[in-house]
Amino acid sequence: MEKIKLGISACLLGENVRYDGGHRLDRFLTDTLGQYVEYVPVCPEVECGLPVPRESMHLEGDPDSPRLVTIRTKQDMTDRMIKWARKRVIDLEKEDLCGFIFKSDSPSSGMERVKVHNEKGMPVKKGVGMFARIFMDHFPLLPVEDEGRLHDPKLRDNFIERIFALKRWREVLERKESRGNVVDFHARHKLLILSHSPKHYQTMGKLVAKAKDLPLKELYQKYQTLLMESLYLKTSPKKNANVLQHMMGYFKEQLSSDEKQELLEVIDFYRKGYIPLIVPVTLVQHYVRKYDQPYLKQQVYLNPHPLELQLRNHV
Ligand code: SF4
Repeated sequence: MEKIKLGISACLLGENVRYDGGHRLDRFLTDTLGQYVEYVPVCPEVECGLPVPRESMHLEGDPDSPRLVTIRTKQDMTDRMIKWARKRVIDLEKEDLCGFIFKSDSPSSGMERVKVHNEKGMPVKKGVGMFARIFMDHFPLLPVEDEGRLHDPKLRDNFIERIFALKRWREVLERKESRGNVVDFHARHKLLILSHSPKHYQTMGKLVAKAKDLPLKELYQKYQTLLMESLYLKTSPKKNANVLQHMMGYFKEQLSSDEKQELLEVIDFYRKGYIPLIVPVTLVQHYVRKYDQPYLKQQVYLNPHPLELQLRNHV
């Protein structure tokens, strides 16, 4: 797989673009995830023409529609930022991004819970950074996260799973449109989808089953929307245990009663939170390989992202 293109707040890559001339380098993003990703850096404040260093800004007014204002001299940067951001998101369409990582808490780049000051100067953490809002409105299905939330192992696993899934889907889009390509993609992603949303698993199964009756464009569009919606929903120990037991059904005839017992115990220990997901997944993988189970061998659920990221060691 070629590298995944992700937009990112430029200061997270170590670029000295912050108001104080500094950066907010995040080593996980550059050194670890960076091995699989090609970043497209965006600094809204510098790109809309502000200098480094510059006066710091914050959001003021209505949290749903705040103004971007410099803190000391009260210059209103709202119109300038909106004008630039609307153009920039059109430019970013060409980049074929699979997601965006925002800098948390920034009045320009924060994706949620950014402070908005009311007329008395009191902050409420209900805002969205000015560029982040325009970006998310423009690309509603694109996976987005901020570097703070990515410290949470579950959110990190979910986000990285989604960007890899979207990249695989984009590879389907690069090939000639055909129903067979959608059916094949779906066959490989069935259990991954089930681990996020049994409801979407059913809906997408029905969509693919009647693929022949739909115009190709409509099939692709509907499938892509459902795919992104389903993976946005979080997995849980209960949902994962359900998928693992479902997989076990494919080779349970070959297992001895002792092996069956052991696998069920391991899945149950995971469900109760005693061991991480990687343990039952590794045991299932072992049997899939040993019994050469063709349907399970192709399931992305067993390898949704590189093992080296160790994401399933912590969920
Ligand atoms: S948070 Fe956003 S606007 Fe601020 S320095 Fe980083 S990239 Fe630039």
